[in-house]
Amino acid sequence: MKIAILPGDGIGPEIVAEAVRVLNVLGEQFEMETAPVGGAGYEAHGHPLPEATLQLAKDADAILFGAVGDWKYDTLERALRPEQAILGLRKTLGLFANFRPAILYPELAGASTLKPEVVSGLDILIIRELTGDIYFGHPRGVRTAPDGAFKGEREGFDTMRYAETEIRRIAHVAFQAALKRDKRLTSVDKANVLETGQFWRDIVTDVHRQYPAVMLDHMYVDNAAMQLVRAPKKFDVLVTGNMFGDILSDAAAMLTGSIGMLPSASLDANNKGLYEPSHGSAPDIAGKGIANPLATILSAAMMLRFSLNMPEQADRIDAAVKSVLAQGLRTADIHESGTTLVGTEAMGDAVVKALN
Ligand code: NAD
Repeated sequence: MKIAILPGDGIGPEIVAEAVRVLNVLGEQFEMETAPVGGAGYEAHGHPLPEATLQLAKDADAILFGAVGDWKYDTLERALRPEQAILGLRKTLGLFANFRPAILYPELAGASTLKPEVVSGLDILIIRELTGDIYFGHPRGVRTAPDGAFKGEREGFDTMRYAETEIRRIAHVAFQAALKRDKRLTSVDKANVLETGQFWRDIVTDVHRQYPAVMLDHMYVDNAAMQLVRAPKKFDVLVTGNMFGDILSDAAAMLTGSIGMLPSASLDANNKGLYEPSHGSAPDIAGKGIANPLATILSAAMMLRFSLNMPEQADRIDAAVKSVLAQGLRTADIHESGTTLVGTEAMGDAVVKALN
C-alpha cells in the first residue's frame, strides 16, 4: 500500500508526524513517501502543487494531507497561493465527495460551546460536494460592471453552477452512506432563491427514487445552519454543495468541541481518497507543539477504512483515540479543568501507547 504523505504548512508537519507514527505501529507494510505542498511546495519548487508532488499523489493508493496556508503568502497572486494546492488536488484527482463525520465523544461533551444535552451522543455525517459550485465556476473575476445599478463601477463576480452529473453522483454517494447508517438524508440547498439550488433539489429528488429505504428531506441552508446548533442530533446524513458544505461543516466542528477533533475524507469514484483534518494550518499556533493531532490521526483511520480496506486497523485507531480521551488527556483546544493538558507529541505518544 502506497501512501503519499503531504504535510504542508503551519501545524501540518507537526500533526501529520503523529499520524505517521500511529500508522507505523499498526504492524502493516505501508510504503510512505513525503512531498512538499502548499507554501512548502512554493518554497521548494516555486509552485504550491509541484509536478512531482502531484505525480506522487496520482501514483499513491491514498493521500494523507496536513494543511496548507500561511498569512505570509496572502500577497502572492492567487494561482501561487498555498490553498490552490488542495483545490488542484481535488480537481485533478476527481475527489468530488467529501465526508466529514461530526461525532461527539462523551468525554468531550463539556468542551462543546453548546449545552451537553444538545450535543451529547452526536453522530452526524456531512457530505459536501467538492469539485463544483461557485468555487470552480467560470466566469469569475473583477471587472467594470457592464450593467445594473452600479454600472461602470468595479465589481467582483463568481459563478455558481452545477451540472446534472455532478449532482447525481454526490446524491448517490449520500444515499449509499445513509443506507449504512440511520437511513435519513437531509439535502441542503437554497432552492427558494437560486436556480442552481432548485436544480440541485430536483435532481436529488429524482435520485431518491432509487433509494426508497432512505427518508429524504430538503432544507434551506439558512435553516440548516440554525438547526445544526439548535437540535443537531435530529440529523443523520446531510448532503450539500461545495460552498454551503464548507460553512456548515465548520459549524458542525464546533458542536464536537474543537475543529482539532474532526477528520475528513475526500473520495473519487473508486474510493481512492485524500484524508485530512477539517481544520487549516493554524499559523497562530504553528511551531508551538500544542496543536491537536487527533483529527489527523482519525483521518488516517478513515483512510484505512475507505481506501485501504483495513477496517479492523481503523477500528483499532478509533478505539485508541477513545482510550486517550477516557484517560483525561487533552490538548489545549479541548482542555477543561480536571483533565491533563498535553502537547501534540505527548498526545501522539498516548495514542501509540494505547495501540501497543
Ligand atoms: P484554521 O482551521 O487554521 O484555524 C482556526 C482556529 O482553530 C485557529 O485559532 C487555530 O489555532 C485553531 N485550530 C485549528 N486546528 C487546530 C488544531 N489541530 N489544534 C488546535 N487548534 C486548532 O483556520 P484559519 O485560521 O481560518 O486559516 C489558517 C490558514 O489555513 C489559512 O491560510 C487558510 O487558508 C488555511 N486553510 C487550509 C485548509 C486546508 O489545508 N484544507 C483548510 C482551511 C483553512
